[in-house]
Amino acid sequence: MNLEEYKGVYVFAQQVDNIVNSIAFELIGKGKDLAADLGTEVTAVLVGSGVKDLADELAEYGADRVIVVDDPELKEYRTEPYAHALASVINKYKPEIFLVGATAIGRDLGPRVSARIHTGLTADCTQLDIGDFPLNPIPGKEQKHNQLLMTRPAFGGNTIATIACPDFRPQMATVRPGVMQKREKQAGVKANVEEFNPGFTPNNNYVEILEVVKAVSETVDIMDAKILVSGGRGMGGPENFKMLEDLAEVLGGTVSCSRAVVDAGWKPKDLQVGQTGKTVRPNVYFAIGISGAIQHLAGMEESDIIIAINKDETAPIFEVADFGLVGDLNKIVPALTEKLRAEMA
Ligand code: FAD
Repeated sequence: MNLEEYKGVYVFAQQVDNIVNSIAFELIGKGKDLAADLGTEVTAVLVGSGVKDLADELAEYGADRVIVVDDPELKEYRTEPYAHALASVINKYKPEIFLVGATAIGRDLGPRVSARIHTGLTADCTQLDIGDFPLNPIPGKEQKHNQLLMTRPAFGGNTIATIACPDFRPQMATVRPGVMQKREKQAGVKANVEEFNPGFTPNNNYVEILEVVKAVSETVDIMDAKILVSGGRGMGGPENFKMLEDLAEVLGGTVSCSRAVVDAGWKPKDLQVGQTGKTVRPNVYFAIGISGAIQHLAGMEESDIIIAINKDETAPIFEVADFGLVGDLNKIVPALTEKLRAEMA
């Protein structure tokens, strides 16, 4: 493999039902930083059926070029045709870096594509940089420059691993949604749009979709919420979450929770914050009856303001909190809600 042939930062612009997933904009945002370090450009790869018009939106968020793979076989996400589309794009255009969102689709697609084109993939990254690898020179081992350094939590979040792919191209990573920053939208900016269709021949690996049943959720996606009122095991039971709903209602916020709450069956998984849940970055994050385990902190410590309520003054959550209230949540939360309601009336 001639590594020199591989140029440019590419991102998979995930769309479902012709709506671009916000992870695509986040990847373009991060891709721009990496591309600036490498003196190259960001290309978004848009895959679907009748999706060409979405290219403009990708340009407005910073994509310099958009490659569109448009085919009726790509109408709904299916592993085989999508993997074929991306592998074909990579074989033709030879990108240096290829980023995919660690969404349900991306986690399925990324490894499949990397295996097909015989390169490595670092899953579920939380940080990406350009730098030297190995990080520090090792006698007798060549240190390569301008490598993609892919960082992710390992061993249940107890350590952070930085991984590189120095001998194969592209360097591939899946990236956690909500971690990278999208750029400000620049209305009217255009990108070079190129269409490419490698041809799709249905085979036994093409799953036949009989019916699509959409999950109906009445809750706001916690990743979009500006104010989150999050409850942990200290809430004591599902019925006590009413207290948090009342507080969230007064503040115009949304309720979320720790994994202990999901494991106990008190709340659904899509409300879970943390390493194996969602990464959130609200303006205000209330951690109520949450101890602050490292796996929980991984999903919320970038919040602008963290307010913790816990009866144990040594709880680790207080180490990341901007404001802490030590005491019984059963007393504090209703009193706080009443006070805020009165203030806002
Ligand atoms: P606890 O740790 O039991 O804390 C409850 C807190 O409530 C305590 O601090 C207690 O002092 C306080 N409390 C109790 N009663 C009251 C009261 N009346 N008033 C005030 N305070 C009170 N966790 C996540 O949250 N998200 C993840 O994504 C996640 N991923 C994980 C991945 C792996 C691989 C592993 C191993 C673990 C993961 N965990 C995750 C679990 C994590 O390690 C903790 O077990 C979990 O976060 C604990 O949840 P908690 O803080 O709600 O419960």
